[in-house]
Amino acid sequence: MKDYMIRAIAANDQIRAFAITSRQLTETARMNHNTSPEITAALGRSMSAALMMGMMMDGDKDLLTLQFRGDGPAKGFTVTADSHGNVKGFAHNPQVTLPPRDGKLNVGGTIGNGFLTVIRDIGLKEPYVGTVQLMTGEIAEDLTYYFASSEQTPSSVGLGVLMNKENTVRVAGGFIIQLMPDTDDETITKLENNLTGIPPVTTMLEEGNTPEDMLQRVLAGFDVKVTEKKDVRFKCDCSRERVENSLATLKDADLDDIISDNKPVEVRCQFCNKAYNFTIDEIKAMKENRKKATDD
Ligand SMILES: [Zn+2]
Repeated sequence: MKDYMIRAIAANDQIRAFAITSRQLTETARMNHNTSPEITAALGRSMSAALMMGMMMDGDKDLLTLQFRGDGPAKGFTVTADSHGNVKGFAHNPQVTLPPRDGKLNVGGTIGNGFLTVIRDIGLKEPYVGTVQLMTGEIAEDLTYYFASSEQTPSSVGLGVLMNKENTVRVAGGFIIQLMPDTDDETITKLENNLTGIPPVTTMLEEGNTPEDMLQRVLAGFDVKVTEKKDVRFKCDCSRERVENSLATLKDADLDDIISDNKPVEVRCQFCNKAYNFTIDEIKAMKENRKKATDD
């Protein structure tokens, strides 16, 4: 199944819903960063959520970032999605692994106690920033709590990543269900009953359910209307030019250190781990050009 996400409404617009299948982009993140199963799961779940939250934004250049920071061995990770279905992400310690907890990947244990920060950059001078304490570090519960406390939107978030035996990604995806203000009690009760009855996201995806199927199950008995469908992918916006610009911000002394080492420099993009190589001559030219620019 190709990676994509959908947006839907139900119960006379009282419910808005999102669902995603994201196996390929999670596998791309795993390969780029050579992540352990726990970190693959953490990145896959949070990238799925970030993409759906990106779909909630309207602006062409809007960006949605989720930062998890904790006292666990993974320390934390960051993912950023735009409103066009592109996502990128990285972990501070991509190879962290722990013994399973209750037979499951111990994602929460790798992150530990800490905070989730949600940053919405919608082109204003200052981005909107909301921070909440981590509930479990298992991502979905933390986002549910964030929506309730920071955005006053009752939500249900389901996210899942299942690995193959050889630790490649078997399935990944999830859903977000949100109640609009003044939703009637009957709708809330019916939705709560549905949510208690559905299997985990990974089970639904394993059974071959599409994002549409998942929403049909979560919203069984409601009139579900899909309003948007979008392809999604892991895509980084780094470039040689950007890396050059960041090198050019180094102090003269630091550039001189590089030049006196007399070895080619490799700079890796934090988000996608792509390597950019610069020869000493290129570093020297960079310094010269900068000098020229300031002399002018
Ligand atoms: Zn990159």
